[in-house]
Amino acid sequence: MKNYMEISFLAKSENESFARVVVASFASQLDPTIDEIADIKTAVSEAVTNAIIHGYDEDETKFVNLISEIDGDTIKVVVEDKGNGIKDVDMAMQPLYTSKPELERSGMGFTVMETFMDSMEISSILGEGTKLVMKK
Ligand code: ATP
Ligand code: MG
Repeated sequence: MKNYMEISFLAKSENESFARVVVASFASQLDPTIDEIADIKTAVSEAVTNAIIHGYDEDETKFVNLISEIDGDTIKVVVEDKGNGIKDVDMAMQPLYTSKPELERSGMGFTVMETFMDSMEISSILGEGTKLVMKK
């Protein structure tokens, strides 16, 4: 099976749950288990939260792009922001590393995404934005 979807939404925290439900609903075509759906939802939430909080510093006028593609029995999810970008991706991916400890972030988002999905790739350019590609 092959399918594709793409949406763009404002960087508002209420859209985290929207994005998670959209991808879960799209993924349901693959007849996933409840656990697989839960994993995908968690990963999408973490990625969208990062785009809003870190990419855009909670500027609700900016847009987050969400793309999902089904190919065979694999789902690909892309979460993209045109925001701050990441200076040092290797450091950002370290468990417990957070640049916003004052917001009580735990620095576990990337670790959660890597654990719950089969693969995750980050491309980021400082001052231009961040693109996250996850597959399961
Ligand atoms: P948590 O996800 O546990 O609440 P966190 O968001 O700080 O905490 P991660 O999701 O692992 O932890 O992200 C680690 C760091 O990578 C962030 O603190 C931030 O500095 C950077 N980062 C992540 N996503 C983005 C993004 N979209 N744009 C800019 N910086 C990002
Ligand atoms: Mg995070």
